[in-house]
Parts: sequence; C-alpha cells; structure tokens
Amino acid sequence: MDSQVRKLIARETKRQQEGMELIASENYVSKAVLEALGSVFTNKYSEGYPGKRYYGGQPYTDAIETLAIERAKKLFGAEHVNVQPLSGAPANMIVYSAVLKPGDTVLGMDLSHGGHLTHGHPVTLAAKIYRFIRYKTKADGLIDYQELERIAMREKPKLMLAGFSAYTRQIDYKKYCDIAKKVGAISMFDMAHIAGLIAGKALPSPVPYFDIVTTTTHKTLRGPRGGMIVCKKEFAHIIDKACFPGFQGGPHMHNIAAKAVAFGEALRPSFQKYAKQILKNAKVLEKELKRHGFKLMFGGTDNHMVLVDVLGSKGVTGKEAETALDEIGITVNKNMIPDDSRSPMDPSGIRIGVPAITTRGMKEKEIQQIAEWINGAIKNHKNKKVLQKLRQEVKKLCKKFPLPY
Ligand SMILES: *Cc1c(COP(=O)(O)O)cnc(C)c1O
Repeated sequence: MDSQVRKLIARETKRQQEGMELIASENYVSKAVLEALGSVFTNKYSEGYPGKRYYGGQPYTDAIETLAIERAKKLFGAEHVNVQPLSGAPANMIVYSAVLKPGDTVLGMDLSHGGHLTHGHPVTLAAKIYRFIRYKTKADGLIDYQELERIAMREKPKLMLAGFSAYTRQIDYKKYCDIAKKVGAISMFDMAHIAGLIAGKALPSPVPYFDIVTTTTHKTLRGPRGGMIVCKKEFAHIIDKACFPGFQGGPHMHNIAAKAVAFGEALRPSFQKYAKQILKNAKVLEKELKRHGFKLMFGGTDNHMVLVDVLGSKGVTGKEAETALDEIGITVNKNMIPDDSRSPMDPSGIRIGVPAITTRGMKEKEIQQIAEWINGAIKNHKNKKVLQKLRQEVKKLCKKFPLPY
C-alpha cells in the first residue's frame, strides 16, 4: 500500500484503539464489513436497479444488491427498500425531491431541539427549495402533540418529518402519523440515529406507521457509511426514480456489499443483545451523570445518548468540555441545547452516546467509571496534571477492550 497512507491508517487505528469514542453517531464496524468495503465491487458501474441496468456485466452486482434489499426488508419488516443512497443527507434529499415540488411546505423538528441539519436548517439547499416550518419540544423536553397538530392544521404541510440526532426521547409514532393523516400530509421518519436499536428490537419500529423512513447505515446500525430508504409500496416507484436518475449516478456497489454484510449481522440474535445493552448503558450513564450534578436535557434518555447542559450545571461551555475530554482521550461533541443562545461553535451542551463503547464490550461497571472521568475532566478542565493522569486511566481501560482490527 501507499506508504504515506499506510502510516496514517496505522495512526488512526491506534487513535481509535486507545481512545474512548462517545460520539453518539459513531461505531466500529466488523472486519467483515471492512472487507466488503475494500472489495472489487468498487470497480463496477451499475446505474439502474437489479434486472434493469444501463451497462452490462451485472450478474453479481444484481445479486449483491438484491441480497442487501432482502435482508433489509426482513430486518425492518419493510414493503420496499432502496439501498443506493450514498448517505443520510442524500437519502433525505431524495425523499424531498420525490414527494415535494419547489415551494411546498414541510414540518420538521428544530435543530436546537434535537432535529438534524437536513430537516430544513436555513443553511441547507433543501431550505432554499422547500418551505420548512420547524416545531420545538416543550419545557419538559417532550413533544407537544396538541401544539404540533395546531401548527399542522395552520400550515397544511405536504410532508411531516419526524426524527432527530440529539433528541433522547421516544416519539409517539401513532400520534404523530394520525396528525399527518388528519392534515393530508405524507409522513416521514428519519431513524438515522436509532436504526440499530430498532433493528435490534430494543426500540419500537416506526416502519409500520410512517409512509417513508430514511436512515444511515453507519451509527447504531453498525454498517458502512451509507444511506437507505424504506417505504410503503405505493411510494416505491417515485422513490427509486428520485434516487436514480433523479439525484444520484452509479450506486457504490462495494458499499452495498458492506450493507448486505451489516444487515446480515444485525439479523443475528447477538445484535439484539447488543441493542439492549446500549439502552442499559445509556440508562446507567444518565443516572451517574445526574448523581455527579449534571443537568440532562429532555429529562433523561430513552435511547443511546444523553444531551447534557454543561454550562448550566457546571459553568463550563460545550467547547471547553469537549476540549477537556479530548485531553483525557474521551471523544464527545459539543452540542446546542434547546433554544441555546450561544453559537453552535461554542454552545451550552455536549452530546454523549454509548453505541461505540458498547460494541467494544463495555458494560454498566465501565460506564460508571466513565461518568466519573467525565465529571473529573470537566471539573478540572484547567488542570493539566489531573487531565494527564485521567488520560492514562482511560487508555488503560481501552486496552482491556480491544477493537477487532
Ligand atoms: C446523521 C444523520 C443524517 C445525515 O447522515 P450523513 O450520512 O451524515 O449524511 C441525517 N439525519 C439524521 C437524523 C442524522 O442523525
């Protein structure tokens, strides 16, 4: 291999081995997923869909894409699946372009209340094309379905979008979809963060309720970086057309091969155990952080992550907390809290997630220790000596839970 690249891969591997990954959207894929990603399927152009390609030479690409689709259908009980979206953001854009005309109204969750950039934040292309109205959570952190219904009745959206990347509570799928039905909107759920918890049957599935469900295949689902769209049969044709040729060119077949591997892994009973352990670990993290005096947004968590108001509870900004934790080898991300008055570059909160360390095999006992380190680093964020000592302790624990590479 290219020696410069090899060196950087070796360094990144070491960083991942010795560090504690608590970014809620990250995970470690299996060796089998990595192998598929590095396979010769990367060489093949296969515009179109299985059985209907624009180029020749497709017997194995057709077979691999069909395998990925069949496994995903089984995993999510889906009527139709498109495994070609290159990632989560393109998957959402494909859905918008399939069901909306420019200027149409979409109802989505506010970014500072846990929504995702791709749900209509003003900086995105989607927000320039469509009219996004954003709803917020109540003071107690839950969604006010009466208020949501009032907004929906007033704005008459064509599409109602639920889903999040920093919201830690369970959404009432039925209530949400009933409102969409009442106002004649198409319902869409973006399960990017929690797809693995749904696949592992630790959380209820939105698939029976929503017209269209989008996801990433990395994050809790523990596959390669990529996207996927699950939908009811009646939307199959327009979704596929909007993906190719509407939005993308040739699908990334090595990636689809890796998706097939990951879906196969997620179908095993051990994945259900993994998903349940994530929820257990997140609950322990919630309890321990509260015990250390941290304020958790939305009152706590029902999923794999917590959103912590570090400024409000410890007088340390999100950026300061992120930097202090980086110094001890714990990686988290600074994050806005609902109605944050500070900038996204130095907000009031941090987001902490447990999927990656759960993949490494860490359980309740380790989480307790980690919460103590987080508290120690934030309390002593200006004390280099203490941070140095904590860094050694973090490294020692990580060595006990090696990655499979
Ligand atoms: C991560 C995420 C996305 C975007 O996924 P990318 O693969 O980064 O494009 C979209 N929606 C939600 C809810 C996410 O959490």
